[in-house]
Amino acid sequence: MAQSSHQVWEDFFKRYYWESILDLANHYPEKRSMFVEFSDIARYDMELANELLEHPDSALAHANETLVRIDLPADVEFTNTHVRIIKLPERVQIRELRSVHINKFIAVSGLIRKATEVRPKIINAAFRCQRCEHVTVVHQSEGKFIEPYECEDEMCGRKGPFKLVHEESEFVDAQKLRVQESPDDLRGGEQPQTLDVDVDDDLAGIVAPGDRVVVTGILRSYQRSTQQGKSTFFDLVLDGVSIEIEDKEFEDIEISKEEIEEILDLGKDPQVYSKVIHSIAPSIYGYDEVKEAMALQLFSGMPKSLPDGTRIRGDIHILLVGDPGVAKSQLLRYGVRLAPRGIYTSGKSSTSAGLTATAVKDEFGEGRWTLEAGALVLADMGLACVDELDKMESDDRSSMHEAMEQQTISIAKAGIMATLKSRCALLGAANPKFGRFDRYEPIAKQINMPPALMSRFDLIFILTDEPSVSRDTAIAEHILKAHYAGQLSIRRDNIINSGITLDEITSAMEVIQPVIQSGMLRKYIAYTKRNIFPIIQDDARKQLIDFYLGLRKQGEDPNSPVPVTARQLEALIRLAEASARVRLSNIITKEDTDRVIRIVMASLKQVMTDPETGRLDADIINVGMGKSQRDRIKVLKEIIRKLEGEYKSAVPLGDIISKAEESGIKKDTVEDMIQKLKTVGEVLEVTNERFKVV
Ligand code: ADP
Ligand code: MG
Repeated sequence: MAQSSHQVWEDFFKRYYWESILDLANHYPEKRSMFVEFSDIARYDMELANELLEHPDSALAHANETLVRIDLPADVEFTNTHVRIIKLPERVQIRELRSVHINKFIAVSGLIRKATEVRPKIINAAFRCQRCEHVTVVHQSEGKFIEPYECEDEMCGRKGPFKLVHEESEFVDAQKLRVQESPDDLRGGEQPQTLDVDVDDDLAGIVAPGDRVVVTGILRSYQRSTQQGKSTFFDLVLDGVSIEIEDKEFEDIEISKEEIEEILDLGKDPQVYSKVIHSIAPSIYGYDEVKEAMALQLFSGMPKSLPDGTRIRGDIHILLVGDPGVAKSQLLRYGVRLAPRGIYTSGKSSTSAGLTATAVKDEFGEGRWTLEAGALVLADMGLACVDELDKMESDDRSSMHEAMEQQTISIAKAGIMATLKSRCALLGAANPKFGRFDRYEPIAKQINMPPALMSRFDLIFILTDEPSVSRDTAIAEHILKAHYAGQLSIRRDNIINSGITLDEITSAMEVIQPVIQSGMLRKYIAYTKRNIFPIIQDDARKQLIDFYLGLRKQGEDPNSPVPVTARQLEALIRLAEASARVRLSNIITKEDTDRVIRIVMASLKQVMTDPETGRLDADIINVGMGKSQRDRIKVLKEIIRKLEGEYKSAVPLGDIISKAEESGIKKDTVEDMIQKLKTVGEVLEVTNERFKVV
């Protein structure tokens, strides 16, 4: 039963951490930190452990001073070492921090949302008196720079002036971080809260925005100052003592023995696919194909590192485009609920970091550059659900390609050079540019998104809202049943003698109940991602190759469009891996390839069919226009060129139109195409409505 003192810490270190101290001595001064697990202190002496939690300032000072002074067998002297305590038994949620936590030793977990550049901070400032040359050292512990009040020298004692002596002052590397609550700790769409953390010396610069961390430290409070003077409110800042980075995917999901039994049983169930599909957004009627794709996205393919250093993503990206009011947003919200580490955001994001990341000089950094993580970074190792993707900021547009394919986001701006990780699957939703979908126009024209970006999606689904009696009836009945169940339950909750039994509610709720409860489904997914790594069988491989070659063959004839590209083949492989995982299979069989070929074909037919010819054309997505359109452009340019030769000058629009109509191109189309050619600089408007090919 010992109180903290140098003696006690020395005894503890010698008994429990002697090896670590020797190791530190070997690597000092490159290494300056010794990591001490809290449980070791508790094992050594419970009272000391409690004192550390309650009075961390004095206890840590003892520990640090002891380490510096300890007798080392080696010829090394410690001058600047740190005892960094890790693995506190309990973590406080950021939203639950209260005044009782002030000046206590606590641990919080979350995501790094912002990080400043690492810059030196002065800790002991040396001032030379300009009158007597005496040097006064002032320890800088507050955020504000403190100058000496008067010269320390008794003979002098004058109030300066003083000059800072850099060589005699002491600096340390420092960084400020902002930690945001992990989305997994949030329930029901709560806004995440944040806590600022100060770190210095060797803790500075070890984390990047997007990292999942546990930060241990002493909670400080600083008085807020307003323009009217000091306020009675205090801000909280964690004085960081240690940072642990969590890099495993589902660390936070624990699965019990009984649950593993249940998972294994489900895996053997021949109905497992339909059970999983019907556990995704059960309150939304229909969309089985989209839900099946979402299921595969949740289970995900496997990321692969090739010997040459390249990495192939395993995450499956899905885009839902469709008319307003077809439940796109609802599907996305459901995705977030099922995916571990799911994040929901909108393309017109409310945060300055947007979807990817930004570097700014702001108040937070106090003049330093700050790197802030956007949604795709915060969703690292999870699922990013981005609504209204077509409305994303132009800054994001340019970094999205890298974010989706390489799954990194590089930032090179002023002082900041960084590569952040964005290893997440993307489930995006977009509305058509003109409000509603037009079946007779190629999709690329109707979505405000660059073709190169669209081609990064493994699957694209078009959800149109076309009235049909049978489907409308079914949806209407489904929606009313869901609302009826809700009404019963509200009445029962609010009126004492409602006469409504729990059984009645349960049976009314049945239509909107998931087959597998979402908690269980999350565990099922986590289990497969940890344990199932399927390998493709020969016949399945052959089937994928045949399917791909079969489609490509259509493109061999120079007059045919290119139907698919290698991107679609990679998508097929990822989807097949996910499909095998759903039934806990370690091999990818024909059953899986059949399934994914069906899904991919459904998607391809929707988005890559040239509405004019009815043929598949990959260029509709990859370059934004199909072959028939490109052919027409060729014809049109030929017409203009020919007329130019005849007229020996620019050609009037009317003449182009009448010539084009002879070749079967409509007037509207001609005007539209000429506008486009003008914007890309292939056609020049010499004078009003007179054109020339460039
Ligand atoms: P979007 O994002 O596509 O514009 P929303 O997700 O906001 O559409 O959906 C509008 C509303 O219509 C939601 O309340 C949704 O539940 C309902 N809804 C639309 N389609 C269906 C459907 N197939 N089944 C059940 N509800 C639906
Ligand atoms: Mg919406």
